[in-house]
Amino acid sequence: MQVTTRTMQKSKHIALVAHDNYKKHLLRWTVEHKDRLKDHVLYATGTTGHLLAKETGLNINCMLSGPLGGDQQLGALISEGKIDMMIFFWDPLNSVPHDPDVKALLRISAVWNVPVATNRASANFMITSPLLDQEVDIEIPDYEAYLAERTL
Ligand code: PGA
Repeated sequence: MQVTTRTMQKSKHIALVAHDNYKKHLLRWTVEHKDRLKDHVLYATGTTGHLLAKETGLNINCMLSGPLGGDQQLGALISEGKIDMMIFFWDPLNSVPHDPDVKALLRISAVWNVPVATNRASANFMITSPLLDQEVDIEIPDYEAYLAERTL
């Protein structure tokens, strides 16, 4: 796959998602990092987003609830280059009804080279990175080249 470059702006578009058993952990993390998060554009799946917005006062663009399609909505935004990073506290100890959607969201994040933090430690590294407030170039699949190759 040939690659090209996408430039993330200084203000990042950050997706926040937590499965039910981890919502309280993501809420605590969001409160701790509210001062940094408020300078960025936030997205979340429905239940997570409404909870975080209510408890922190942050402005969050809420998708549908995950099991009703919210993960897929975030995946679509990622495919369109509209999400720069994702904090996704998925539950490694319990199954969820929308497991295929969870897999799809993690897969499409990998395809588009979106940084993903899946637990508190990785989220801490990401949110304290000096890159958070800088313009950053990342490699992404070169869709023009991909199409040209497949439509010869
Ligand atoms: P929810 O979805 O925020 O609506 O609970 C989370 C998820 O994708 O499982």
